[in-house]
Amino acid sequence: VSRVIPVETFDLVIFGGTGDLARRKILPALFRRFQAGQMPEESRIIGAARSEMGTKEFRAFVGEAIGEFIPAEEAPAKAVENFLRHISYVAVDARGTDGWSDLSAQVRQDVIQAFYFSVAPALFGDLAERLHEHGIAGPESRIVVEKPFGRDLESAHALNATLAAHFDEHQIYRIDHYLGKETVQNLMAVRFGNILFEPLWNAQYVDHVQITVAETVGVEGRGAYYDLSGAMRDMVQNHMMQLLCLIAMEPPSQFEPDAVRDEKLKVIRALDPVAPAEIVRGQYKAGNGRPSYVEGVENPDSRTESFIAMRVDIANWRWKGTPFYLRTGKRLKSRMSEIVVTFREPPHSIFGEEAGKSANVLVIRLQPDEGITLRVTIKEPGPGGMRLVDVPLDMTFAEALGPDADDIPDAYERLIMDVIRGNQTLFMRGDEVEAAWAWTDPIIAAWSDKGDRPLPYETGSTGPEDALMLLHRDGRRWREIE
Ligand code: NAD
Repeated sequence: VSRVIPVETFDLVIFGGTGDLARRKILPALFRRFQAGQMPEESRIIGAARSEMGTKEFRAFVGEAIGEFIPAEEAPAKAVENFLRHISYVAVDARGTDGWSDLSAQVRQDVIQAFYFSVAPALFGDLAERLHEHGIAGPESRIVVEKPFGRDLESAHALNATLAAHFDEHQIYRIDHYLGKETVQNLMAVRFGNILFEPLWNAQYVDHVQITVAETVGVEGRGAYYDLSGAMRDMVQNHMMQLLCLIAMEPPSQFEPDAVRDEKLKVIRALDPVAPAEIVRGQYKAGNGRPSYVEGVENPDSRTESFIAMRVDIANWRWKGTPFYLRTGKRLKSRMSEIVVTFREPPHSIFGEEAGKSANVLVIRLQPDEGITLRVTIKEPGPGGMRLVDVPLDMTFAEALGPDADDIPDAYERLIMDVIRGNQTLFMRGDEVEAAWAWTDPIIAAWSDKGDRPLPYETGSTGPEDALMLLHRDGRRWREIE
């Protein structure tokens, strides 16, 4: 029995359809959903961008994107050909009048309409205006916007206001692809679908939480963009904040978009301010034949951080006394994203001083492989007496769900289908984004006022030594990046 639930017929317009994001993520994701049988026969995907080209050329572009990002055995020629029949192209200029009446003629009014704004945020206002001017968008149309959502509170607020001038909040889908990951949703299922965890999910039983997003890549071709941003803006304010919220939030009364987002917002508003000097900032050096950060961004005096480690405290009844440690960086030892919930030690060990002291640890892994593991203490098998060992209780989907686990859509696939379904649960609401900037703004401002210099760290390391110290001085250790 297929677990794929078809969506209603839609017209999806991808503004910026010829761009990098469309090529690498959006178009391959749509092909996969088509292959899974989730795209209704009458649905259409319309590429819209500034490049002068026709549908034929755009189809060739989409075909190449599929060839590049989807393994050949999963993209048989016939399937690609069938998919391409759903695709057309209109050349439009967001800032001008060209192409808009063509687009208006193509977008049907009697099906679900979604507009993916895969263009620079400076164009969002123009697109929104044109869509209304030409009567293309209506009160139920959906728009999808990408990060970065502003670069501080002021710009995010302005962006929200621009969108709000044309669309209702229920029409706006702010993508954070971390929220589209299977494991992130499974985290909610595990937390709220079992009685086992929630009673222990507080400062009395949780010693601390670690969230690590480690990358092996450097800034590569994105140096100019990244240098204006840095790890705090690029990772902490959005992705890591969202993960922290899902761990820390109170149980929503229902699994409904606003119920969940209200709870996340409360967490962000309860974050203690962090002293900027307490945060470890790093910048990678040259290594393994690859250029240093400053070479990559072509600014020898850049003070932008490519690494951050920080302790975050949440000032509420549930979490007072349980620190959340966040760590993210580029050019680290391995590519790995995980959340680790470390429970406290049993209050008394009946097995002697050393035995039975290992804490229970819940590891929620997002990258490179997804899965949830609970480490528990058991007796080592055999006649050796009461020797205790630490073993993983694995909740990896592949084993539990068998062959069906192969159908698990990736983040973009799921999120795009959620847009069509009209489900905003996994998208950020405007007030959440602003609250997160309100928390990060003073930190970033203090660094720049002081001209703070990040600490250099080795390529292939776990970041600057000071990041280790951050936990050592609290009597804790980071989990290995591996
Ligand atoms: P890109 O530069 O590769 O593509 C930009 C697209 O916008 C092109 O299709 C171009 O034709 C179109 N465009 C530019 N000016 C236009 C105009 N006046 N009218 C109509 N179309 C116009 O950019 P990208 O990397 O695909 O990024 C798109 C958006 O997604 C940006 O907001 C970016 O910040 C965000 N984003 C990208 C990535 C990524 O991996 N590329 C990741 C996260 C977020």
